[in-house]
Amino acid sequence: MTTYTPMIQQYLAIKEEAKDAFLFFRLGDFYEMFFDDAVLAARELEITLTGREGGGAERIPMCGVPYHSADNYISRLIEKGYKVAICEQVEDPSASKGVVRREIVRVVTPGTVMESKSLEGKGNNFIAGAARLDGECGIAVCDLSTGEMYVTSFPDSPELAADEVNVYLPAEIVGDEELLEQLKTLAGGFGRPVVFTPRMPMDGQRLEQRFGADSLGQLTAVRRRAVSLLTGYLEDTQKRSLSHVTRFTAYETNQYMILDQFTRRNLELTETVQERSKKGSLLWLLDRTCTSMGSRLLKRWIDKPLLNRTVIEQRLDAVDNLYRDLILREELRSSLKDIYDLERLVGRVAYGSAGGRDLNALKHSLRQVPAITEQCTASNSSTLRGIVEGLDDCSDLADIIETVLVEDPPLSIREGGLIRPGYDEYLDQLREASTNGKKWLADLERREREATGIKTLKIGYNKVFGYYLEVSKANIAMLPEGRYERKQTLANAERYVTPELKEKEKLILEAEEKMVDLEYERFIELRNHIAEGLDRLQRLAAVIAAVDVYQSLAAVSAEQRFVRPVISEGYDLIIEEGRHPVVEAVMEGSPFIANGTRLTADGPMLLITGPNMAGKSTYMRQVALICMMAQIGCFVPARKAEVPLTDRIFTRIGAADDLIGGQSTFMVEMKDIQVMTEKATRSSLVIIDELGRGTSTGEGMAIAQAVIEFVHHSIGCKALVSTHFHELAHLEESLPGLSNGCMAVQESGDNVTFLRKLVSGAASTSYGIYCAQLAGLPSSVIGRAYELLHAGEQPAASRAKPADTQLAAEVDPQPSQQRPANQPEPASVYAAASDYAVESAAAAEAVAV
Ligand code: ADP
Repeated sequence: MTTYTPMIQQYLAIKEEAKDAFLFFRLGDFYEMFFDDAVLAARELEITLTGREGGGAERIPMCGVPYHSADNYISRLIEKGYKVAICEQVEDPSASKGVVRREIVRVVTPGTVMESKSLEGKGNNFIAGAARLDGECGIAVCDLSTGEMYVTSFPDSPELAADEVNVYLPAEIVGDEELLEQLKTLAGGFGRPVVFTPRMPMDGQRLEQRFGADSLGQLTAVRRRAVSLLTGYLEDTQKRSLSHVTRFTAYETNQYMILDQFTRRNLELTETVQERSKKGSLLWLLDRTCTSMGSRLLKRWIDKPLLNRTVIEQRLDAVDNLYRDLILREELRSSLKDIYDLERLVGRVAYGSAGGRDLNALKHSLRQVPAITEQCTASNSSTLRGIVEGLDDCSDLADIIETVLVEDPPLSIREGGLIRPGYDEYLDQLREASTNGKKWLADLERREREATGIKTLKIGYNKVFGYYLEVSKANIAMLPEGRYERKQTLANAERYVTPELKEKEKLILEAEEKMVDLEYERFIELRNHIAEGLDRLQRLAAVIAAVDVYQSLAAVSAEQRFVRPVISEGYDLIIEEGRHPVVEAVMEGSPFIANGTRLTADGPMLLITGPNMAGKSTYMRQVALICMMAQIGCFVPARKAEVPLTDRIFTRIGAADDLIGGQSTFMVEMKDIQVMTEKATRSSLVIIDELGRGTSTGEGMAIAQAVIEFVHHSIGCKALVSTHFHELAHLEESLPGLSNGCMAVQESGDNVTFLRKLVSGAASTSYGIYCAQLAGLPSSVIGRAYELLHAGEQPAASRAKPADTQLAAEVDPQPSQQRPANQPEPASVYAAASDYAVESAAAAEAVAV
């Protein structure tokens, strides 16, 4: 057996407590890693691997990082999905016998980073706890940097749990092992690294101390378990009080519109499918918030559209008011701009990592609150007036910070210069002693120069010798005998002290040391005082965040010409001149073509045909987005919109998700459809793009028809379905609730122009060959393809119509001012075959309204 040195034995014992983390073992000015940790860290951090004798036969692999730049290395490991346990010396090395005592003081994990470098500026950094108990799943999530915690539960289903967890994009999930394993399998769909750590619940009494027996008593057993699993992990890794995590918000998943993770992605609510970036998402468009808290809250609203009409109307009321009142909006924006991230400041106060500058940022932010309160109180919106009524503006906290701290405190809290003169009498005395001391030194310098006649004699200070008199070598002869004691010899000068100087030095240094200690003490008192107000500050931050979101939604609504939707408890969804908010916003040059939607109890389904690139999926997404925007309380991109409450949106769109988990396109589609058939209600909205792809034409079409019939007969929800099977157009005859629509195209000569206008009727051809032609395939191939197409289409002629029997319907595709300048007047718009034809523009409006 190897007998390691005592220090390595200590290392190994501590490493036992942090098996799943890199152990950063403090040795002097370095954090060292040993054994396998060292080998892996050297590779991951690209630092040199060395070795060290440790008592064994072989040298122990070792690598290290300087403690003052450790944050940077820690962040890099965290970003790669590792955990880092920080082990410090916990006793004074000079006072200890043998090996210095060391302890893990904190484990940094992807879900619990507090360092602002690792926290993406405005976003949340959530960690989730997942519990399973008696046929139910419970999910708790917490953002340690802001202190917010949410908890919910639902009947046991790993899929639902994955959907719910995924709303928060957690970096880390802890909890019941079996459920975690299932989430891990499903987490392929998360599409980003997630760290899973199995946990047991924490001690019940400690849990009650934190949250209070009363609020815990309101939780069902599985919710309590989820909170317990999560909180236990937070306490164990952070090893500190976490006084800002003392509350949670419980909610029911059916309080909100249900959006599964694929729908969230398909609709690009908070990130785009391709780049997974915020830019280009709905959140990006709607985010005109001025504060980080506002930005995070907006994301939560988008994540969870409401189902309660009263609350939606309350939000719309505030947005409406700010939409109309540009001056109020600008005033609010200018106050909000000066507010720092209160939630994170609060987090740092609770964490004990807030410095003087943080507290001043807090003060500065709190000073803006009265103006915001006044502006809201003066508004015409009962919602805005309501949220600031009786608001605790925490001005006493701002006042106390102002009384204690100087205007521009240094970064460090251990070097003095923090506390305002006049705040502490003793501190002032010490300061005066130090200032007087310095005056005395200047005086001494003058006196000594006069006495010796050496004009270049000067007084200096260094850490080793303290204060000294410096005389250049050339002048040494001029010094009187006996009075000066030589301390240090330099190349060109000698340094001396006198008993008088030593005595004064003692006084000055003592005063300065006391001053620094006292300043630190006073600062910590101040920070602790602020920490007592955490709860109040958190409540205030929540109100500020809401005001910010209202003004953001109002600003973007005004800018993008959105309108207030009419929220109805009825069934019908009626949109006039709807637009896709994001596609419209990013389009350059040509205008976005508006399209109406009319899905009513009599006709809840629309089957859309039309060539690729015609605008089908943009149209379908726009309908879904308008519904959900209305339910978060935002105005919508339309001329007019009557929006019923939708309990759930299903989407089956595009190919982006199909690569996940290596499943076939068809299998993925069928699984989605299966969920839809099981979960959709009459109040849902179903969107299926290209139904029936990925299998043979015959089968695909058969399944598509069967699914459409099922939705029509058995669910009765609103649905938009696009298909390239034109043959399905005949369903309009047998299904009274379904009508055909298509994206109009204009042909002139060899050219096809997409008009992006939805008209009634079915498209005749998908123009796939035309696309091939555009892509530059050889003309012989194109010619042959047309030949085959026409040969193949004949038998289908009785159902879908061949191109040459199309009826040209004169449809004005859009108000003329919207037509691109370079686009000719449409000569004819091939919308549909004869019996589905649009007879006139008026008829087209009937569907396309
Ligand atoms: P499809 O689903 O029919 O293949 P898309 O919806 O993907 O077509 O639309 C193709 C492109 O056409 C989009 O990327 C968008 O830039 C543009 N587009 C779609 N709808 C409109 C519209 N209503 N107005 C203007 N441009 C549009």
